[in-house]
Amino acid sequence: MRYDLHVHSTVSDGTYSPADLVDRAVAAGIDVLALTDHDTTDGLEEAAMASRLLGIRLISGVEISTTWNNKTLHVVGLNIQPECELLQAGLAQLKGVRLDRAEQIGQKLEKAGIKGVYEDVLRVSGSGMITRTHFAQAIVRRRLALDVRDVFNRYLVSGKPGYVGTEWVSTDAAIAWIQAAGGIAVLAHPQRYKLTGSWLRRLLGEFRDMGGRGLEVLSGTASVGDVQSSAGLARNFDLLASCGSDFHGPDGAWPKLGRLPAMPDGVTPVWHAWENAGSWVGVKRPPASHDE
Ligand code: AMP
Ligand code: MN
Ligand code: MN
Ligand code: MN
Repeated sequence: MRYDLHVHSTVSDGTYSPADLVDRAVAAGIDVLALTDHDTTDGLEEAAMASRLLGIRLISGVEISTTWNNKTLHVVGLNIQPECELLQAGLAQLKGVRLDRAEQIGQKLEKAGIKGVYEDVLRVSGSGMITRTHFAQAIVRRRLALDVRDVFNRYLVSGKPGYVGTEWVSTDAAIAWIQAAGGIAVLAHPQRYKLTGSWLRRLLGEFRDMGGRGLEVLSGTASVGDVQSSAGLARNFDLLASCGSDFHGPDGAWPKLGRLPAMPDGVTPVWHAWENAGSWVGVKRPPASHDE
């Protein structure tokens, strides 16, 4: 069975509509797909409809932007019930945070001499979530940069003229929403936060204590070494191992849909949590070990 449990559609910063994404997932040989857009579940209904037609299993997901110790961390919720009111209230709050932030990014870019991008971005994003990717694409369309990555490096990352530091929701709160929605909270792409080993261990201990259940051991952007160390951490902190490409579209710089290596030995895949749901109910979790 092939799993890809982290992908984006046009309701956040992906290139393909939810239905097109499902279609492409089938073509890529994926059996189980989780749609995990940034801070929104709006694509899930369309994806579910397409998945029924095309005979692929769709897992309802979301990727929530959170703040922990002044760092932005992404928490993927898997197998959620999107109708959960607590979850939707939280995501509505994040939509507001994103709108305010987009306006601020627009103002900063104006000051840097790039006019009217905010209006462009509002038009293109429609009713979906506005992300930095939308700004990057708008700037590329104006031929002011080579590609999206170039815009991030020159304008949108910390220390650059269009960067706006953002207070998302606490990691704790996001995990609580995912739990309320009956889902599994997974820490996404751990290698991307550039944490030292001791910070990462501290994070995983706290993440587990907050109710987090999984770690994205296989990510489209992880190296072989990253995968090995994440697998070790998943074992030590008793976290389920997830795998997701973080596919956004055909842009060559991003990982390909479903293109993931095999899950390393010695970890428990996250899908065991829903495939053998019975064995998880009421299981008391053992104390996390904090040594590597
Ligand atoms: P946001 O959540 O609005 O801050 O946007 C984050 C998104 O921007 C990520 O999910 C990626 O899709 C994209 N992104 C972040 N860093 C880069 C980068 N250096 N190059 C290209 N895309 C990036
Ligand atoms: Mn993204
Ligand atoms: Mn992410
Ligand atoms: Mn993602």
